[in-house]
Amino acid sequence: MAFDIEMIKKVYATFGERVNAARELVGRPLTLSEKILYAHLWDGKSNKAFTRGADYVDFAPDRVAMQDATAQMALLQFMQAGRPKVAVPSSVHCDHLITAKLGAEIDLPHAKTESAEVFDFLSSVSNKYGIGFWKPGAGIIHQVILENYAFPGGMMIGTDSHTVNAGGLGMLAIGVGGADACDVMAGLPWELKFPKLIGVKLTGKLNGWTSAKDVILKVAGILTVKGGTGAIVEYFGDGAINLSCTGKGTICNMGAEIGATTSTFGYDDSMERYLRATNRADVAEAANAIKEHLTGDAEVYAQPEKYFDQLIEINLDELEPYLNGPFTPDLATPISQMKAVAEANGWPTKVEWGLIGSCTNSSYEDLSRAASVAKQAIDKGLGKKAEFGINPGSEQVRYTADRDGLLGTFKDLDATIFTNACGPCIGMWDRTGAEKAEKNTIVHSFNRNFAKRADGNPNTYAFVTSPEIVAAIAIAGDLGFNPLTDTLTNDKGEQVKLDEPTGWELPEKGYAVEDAGFQAPAEDGSNVEVKVSPTSHRLQLLDPFAPWEGTDLKGLKLLIKAKGKCTTDHISMAGPWLKFRGHLDNISNNMLIGAVNYFNDKTDDIKNQLTGEYGPVPATQRAYKAQGIGSIVVGDENYGEGSSREHAAMEPRHLGVRAVLVKSFARIHETNLKKQGMLGLTFADKEDYNKIQEDDTIDILGLTEFAPNKPLTLVLHHADGSTEQFDVNHSYNEQQIEWFKAGGALNIIRKEAAA
Ligand code: SF4
Repeated sequence: MAFDIEMIKKVYATFGERVNAARELVGRPLTLSEKILYAHLWDGKSNKAFTRGADYVDFAPDRVAMQDATAQMALLQFMQAGRPKVAVPSSVHCDHLITAKLGAEIDLPHAKTESAEVFDFLSSVSNKYGIGFWKPGAGIIHQVILENYAFPGGMMIGTDSHTVNAGGLGMLAIGVGGADACDVMAGLPWELKFPKLIGVKLTGKLNGWTSAKDVILKVAGILTVKGGTGAIVEYFGDGAINLSCTGKGTICNMGAEIGATTSTFGYDDSMERYLRATNRADVAEAANAIKEHLTGDAEVYAQPEKYFDQLIEINLDELEPYLNGPFTPDLATPISQMKAVAEANGWPTKVEWGLIGSCTNSSYEDLSRAASVAKQAIDKGLGKKAEFGINPGSEQVRYTADRDGLLGTFKDLDATIFTNACGPCIGMWDRTGAEKAEKNTIVHSFNRNFAKRADGNPNTYAFVTSPEIVAAIAIAGDLGFNPLTDTLTNDKGEQVKLDEPTGWELPEKGYAVEDAGFQAPAEDGSNVEVKVSPTSHRLQLLDPFAPWEGTDLKGLKLLIKAKGKCTTDHISMAGPWLKFRGHLDNISNNMLIGAVNYFNDKTDDIKNQLTGEYGPVPATQRAYKAQGIGSIVVGDENYGEGSSREHAAMEPRHLGVRAVLVKSFARIHETNLKKQGMLGLTFADKEDYNKIQEDDTIDILGLTEFAPNKPLTLVLHHADGSTEQFDVNHSYNEQQIEWFKAGGALNIIRKEAAA
């Protein structure tokens, strides 16, 4: 019995009816993406056809997924909502906070001790509020989701950008910030701009050394890291049907690397096989009963250019293996050209490490194909020239791969088997010698390869490729090695060639596991106590933010006038700050430390108007807060782009910033500010940005008549005694104005829950 079968049956019960109504409404055949979107409308149906890329629409996701780093703040917020239980099925997965160093047997117990209080908190809060909890070592969130929760035609949100992986099982699964997850768990709708649609028609069949990974590596090369922004990528065609379900997951997973909202495939036999193999025959049967609704209409796929905003065609028969990188996942080089391209660019060709794993490529099929290559290194007397590390995707994959001798093969080649967790993929890799920052090359089967991502060394050249190519290149120790054409010298001095990889889509003897690492929540969690130590450095219970005082805001100090790009990383840096994601006061010490001060071109160096001295942004803001003085942050274009992390909005709110005034906002950050009860304003005339001076004291007028589409007024009091006044715009609707007045959306949810 699958975890969600009753919920899935409920979704399917109305699916066909909703799809038919939508088809009639839009007056044309529907893509799969549109079917899933229209089947998940918050109100059940719409009386207007939505415009792609323009209309904001409320949806009702079926499920919420959270990983340990982002779950902390999402759940701390949820605790504020005053609800006894989550409103939709939800799960927490402990996978990001486990450092890879010596291998799972040593690393996992170490992580459990090091992050015990975070894991204990997540376990108890999950237990209390009806959330499925996957312990450290259970696996990487997206692999565990694919194995247990994803279902064709479903809609899921997750507090991780690679939530999109579940598209491999025909879902629309979308990465969001913790505030969105909190809303949905509290029973509120989830808003999304109706996405544009990119169609990818796959023909032919993968063969030889080519794998599903190469499809998305090629697509990334075509679309680049921004090409999918605001769009769903829908794969279809005979080639799609020929791919395994986990291979489809790999392709959807890296849709995040092209900025796509999500990616998906229509329901087919590979998904049915996977559902049955992962003990979900009941889901497969339920899906079979509405099969025609779980894929795009035939007319759409017959004339895709008519129905998609953009169309790409890839013939799998002709596809070559790719290596993408270094430093960006869209720099795609076919393996046949890598030797020449690497030499021309001066990339180091000696490969130090080959890493297989991450949510992208850690399935049984991935491990089996890579192991078939590794075995040849032993059988043919080749050994390996690079270090080799493996992160299985889940305990179920690890246990099965161990039973079937795959891990034994890797161990025979002296590979390190790391924990079933993210590890090197998120920089949780204590790599010996990385601190020397030497120029070096690694190859991995992950999804991201930005500078410092794996080991913190800015001089590590990381190339993304398939697990089987990682294995071949780790054996050769040479980035330019092409297993399709090149030979290697074995221990007898003979020239030998690696045979094409072989593997199993699904384990022949079925999946097996002794302890998958799942903890079911209490039936009645009302007596479960969630413990957070008041002296903890990593966790802090939230206090509700204060409501608006009912007056205009006067006498605000300019905190910083940020110049140029100011992403959520500039506002709330990741890396070493990751460990404070559950402690609002501590993580607030990174507030805006990456933003460039317009007046001196420096980061984290601003003028304290009370003392005239320059100092760090967080300390300056804390000085204003101590005096009861509010402040304002001024920014440039697309302020707050990047991740959807709500810390970038919560930190200024916590430290007493009252408004953020910019030329333009990244939408998610703007919404996050509104949710936290902050004023997010834009210059009515962008030239007014130039009027802001370093010593300005600022008033915001018009708040007592705060209304949709009605500008507010800003008054600048300059140090020389002069004043200037201009309009500032906002995009608050009635409900968002209520959030502002209440001091934040959560204050309203809590009030409603108590009523
Ligand atoms: Fe993110 Fe990497 Fe973990 Fe996947 S394996 S969830 S990409 S950190």
